[in-house]
Amino acid sequence: MESERQINQYRTPYFLIDQDELESIVEELQAAIQLYWKNTIMGYSFKTNSLPWVVEFFRKKRFYAEVVSDDEYNLAMKMDYSKNKIIYNGIIKSKETFLEALENGCIVNLDSEREILWLMDTDTEKHYSVGIRINFDLEQMCPEQSQCGNEGGRFGFCYENGEFARALAAIKQYQNIEVKGIHLHCSSKTRSLDIYRAVSFMACRIKREYQLDLDYVDIGGGFFGGLKDKPHFADYFQCISEILCKEYDKEKTKLIIEPGMSVIGSPVSFVTSVIDVKETNRNLFIVTDGSRNNIDPLMTKTSYFYEIWHSDPDIRSKAVDKQVVVGYTCMEHDRLFELKECRKLQPGDKIVYHKAGAYTMCLSPLFIKYFPDIYVKKGEKYRLVRQRWSEEEYIQNSIRW
Ligand SMILES: *Cc1c(COP(=O)(O)O)cnc(C)c1O
Repeated sequence: MESERQINQYRTPYFLIDQDELESIVEELQAAIQLYWKNTIMGYSFKTNSLPWVVEFFRKKRFYAEVVSDDEYNLAMKMDYSKNKIIYNGIIKSKETFLEALENGCIVNLDSEREILWLMDTDTEKHYSVGIRINFDLEQMCPEQSQCGNEGGRFGFCYENGEFARALAAIKQYQNIEVKGIHLHCSSKTRSLDIYRAVSFMACRIKREYQLDLDYVDIGGGFFGGLKDKPHFADYFQCISEILCKEYDKEKTKLIIEPGMSVIGSPVSFVTSVIDVKETNRNLFIVTDGSRNNIDPLMTKTSYFYEIWHSDPDIRSKAVDKQVVVGYTCMEHDRLFELKECRKLQPGDKIVYHKAGAYTMCLSPLFIKYFPDIYVKKGEKYRLVRQRWSEEEYIQNSIRW
């Protein structure tokens, strides 16, 4: 197969971004949101994968940059995002970039008390709009689906205990500041439609209860994307719009979404090679030049989407009971998956992990080996978009004497 030949051509390990697939996911997203809420802003969640090529791709697709730190804010500026096409979220904004973003007309969602105090340093002659992130009891609304269960989420101002109301009142003290948006991004275990029904319901309730006049409702990210058996973009926006339209005018209030995983997770693969086969009295280990650190840096995945390319086309070779595929690090827990009753792997065989684009390359540590090559595939053409790091990049900015 052509793709197999191509895959064999480059030195492993490497990430491979399928640009055609990425384009079609973004098209699906845009079509779905157009269907249900035309008046919309899409922000790309930088933290999910901020590879410069990826960030540039989303800029060209007219996404805003959704950033959650001063470093990410500066990266968005460096990557030529328009100075007002930044959605500035998160708890580690710097005061300097916070004020600059407000001045530039960015969408700034306040997350903490200290940011309310920073508003004191805005120009009293000018007028500014801000958003507030809401912390609400998702676990109560969707039992066993929220990320933190009974411990609750830690972002935004809590609705139930009155912190949100206090934040609103505190901001009202500033003559030049108006709350024009609410932000309700939630992390969940399930990424289910229930979560977005709960989020939309809260958005309505809060508008009603506090008589807010809002330019936008930001429902954040956290969607599935590119997975057959999971909700699709259209499913999410249908149920969001059904609820929101009871309280919000589609013409007047923008729906903001901040996808990350759902757009960049699926179209990225990680290509590795078998470099050694090792037998012990307890196991047969298949040693590869990829690591869990590359595709599961948080060590939370229990299975992977993978494919095996045998270098020897002779399929008559005998099956073995059990093979354990392991990574290159010197950590015992760097074990990826087991093969039962499968053809024995041998050096030179390739293992390709799919759907490896979210929270992978951006979270990998520089542990034992440095960052691998990254290619973009468009049609049958491959293009190197980040060369692997060597000791040169590793030591940059260091002082050794
Ligand atoms: C992480 C995050 C996102 C993106 O979440 P995904 O699960 O990658 O879609 C969007 N908005 C905020 C505020 C986030 O923290």
